[in-house]
Amino acid sequence: MKWEDICSNCGLCCHEKAVSKDFLIIFESVCDFYDEKNKRCSVYDERFDKCDRCLKVTPLRAAFASYLPSSCAYVLWAKRHHIRFPRDKEVVLSSEA
Ligand code: SF4
Ligand code: SF4
Repeated sequence: MKWEDICSNCGLCCHEKAVSKDFLIIFESVCDFYDEKNKRCSVYDERFDKCDRCLKVTPLRAAFASYLPSSCAYVLWAKRHHIRFPRDKEVVLSSEA
């Protein structure tokens, strides 16, 4: 399986987020390039050129990035390999933009 195929396309990482010690707040506001109907990035192959804020989920980020929800398929991958370090945070979906 290719690394990219791990993603379950939940889209949570394409939303605005705020991270605190115990909570990961995910706002309604989502990246302009996220196609909500098809639950896909509309510029996937060029996403790092088109979107300054788009970050590739690398194995290092899967292990350390606290902005990824515990349900993220890469976080689950890291947990399976015993390399996930931040504690799980409660995900709060906020209707604020
Ligand atoms: S450009 Fe990046 S953040 Fe925006 S929709 Fe695509 S993958 Fe998500
Ligand atoms: S949160 Fe994880 S599984 Fe969901 S779209 Fe982002 S990288 Fe993929």
